Amino acid sequence: MKILVLNCGSSSVKYQLFDMTDESVLAKGIVERVGMTDAILTHRPTGKEKYCHVEPILEHTSAIKVVTNILVHPEHGVIQDVKEIDAVGHRVVHGGEKFSQSTLITQEVKNVLTEYIELAPLHNPPNLKGIAAAESVLPDVPQVGVFDTAFHSTIPRYAYLYALPYTLYQRYRIRRYGFHGTSHKFVARRVAQLMQKEFSALKIITCHLGNGASITAVDRGKSVETSMGFTPLEGLIMGTRAGDIDPAIIPYVMAKEELSLGEVDAMLNKHSGILGVSGIGSDMRDIEKAAEEGHERAQLALEMYRYRIRKYIGAYIAAMNGVDAIVFTAGIGENDPVSRAIIGKQLSFFGVEIDEERNNCRGVEREITTPTSKVKLWVIPTNEELMIARDTMEILMAKE
Ligand code: AMP
Repeated sequence: MKILVLNCGSSSVKYQLFDMTDESVLAKGIVERVGMTDAILTHRPTGKEKYCHVEPILEHTSAIKVVTNILVHPEHGVIQDVKEIDAVGHRVVHGGEKFSQSTLITQEVKNVLTEYIELAPLHNPPNLKGIAAAESVLPDVPQVGVFDTAFHSTIPRYAYLYALPYTLYQRYRIRRYGFHGTSHKFVARRVAQLMQKEFSALKIITCHLGNGASITAVDRGKSVETSMGFTPLEGLIMGTRAGDIDPAIIPYVMAKEELSLGEVDAMLNKHSGILGVSGIGSDMRDIEKAAEEGHERAQLALEMYRYRIRKYIGAYIAAMNGVDAIVFTAGIGENDPVSRAIIGKQLSFFGVEIDEERNNCRGVEREITTPTSKVKLWVIPTNEELMIARDTMEILMAKE
């Protein structure tokens, strides 16, 4: 069975084609600058040369046509015919309260996702465009939606509600939804497998630390708490997002700086976090380099960033009344041994013993604590695309 996984953004389409007989990647790539006359296709077929091409690609349907054309290309392709694609799995950011699981896309599903545009104005519209485009290019192929929010649908009500007037939840569904669910689910399942324990027997904290970042408490197979909330702004300090702040700062700053709602929104999402504190950038590599060279605000940004993660880990240990494993994943989680070591060392009260030598790794699957460590720390590279492909296959099998 061959499954095409699509992640459609406003100006990009990322794709991976999987052969699910052995879960191997046949090809992957990205179309960038969709909407422009100089859009770029970067195509990486497994076992063949990388191929890049620039051409006008003005909307998502053309972008997906470009993807299917290159997949069957005599020289750069990996399949003979698009008919070999059995299903398409779409990453969809917001599944709201309706979708607690991945689902076959029908007109009804699209109607609900259209309603959820209000909840995810930046993400759901391009996701929907991607679905419509894939339907028109591959009309007879089943399309499956895999939602970033779905894994968090098991969070109990006392944890997902905000202590606001209850009518706001009733009227507008204002609550914690959580994001990065596909990644949290993938690494949580994987750590159980690597520890040779039942997923349903473990208490796991998963730290997805990329440019966007979130932490999830997974109690015996279920997400019970996560740091991102109604939007991806809440929780950890991120590349350019503030994470948790006192909400009363907003009207105060708006008055003092004469900011509009749009401006304050941009401040919190685009000019805060590591960038806002350090004043030099949002990329962790630049910040660590500057900190090493003595840049004081880069050092402060790092200290704040790591402290926030530790604080959340402590809270989630309390939320689950224990923890067996803590997993680090995504760009920073997978590649930054210094942050992992600093966070790990300050969790010694809980019985964490970091093994410096084992921790000195990047982008590999590895336990990074000593054999005597009560709580196990792991690095596990995330693979959201494979998780989407697996869910898509499962739905297809159930349909047949
Ligand atoms: P992601 O959003 O998962 O792609 O992660 C992006 C973040 O990972 C950026 O802040 C990068 O600086 C960070 N990152 C990638 N490689 C490294 C590395 N070797 N050391 C520290 N941070 C890294």
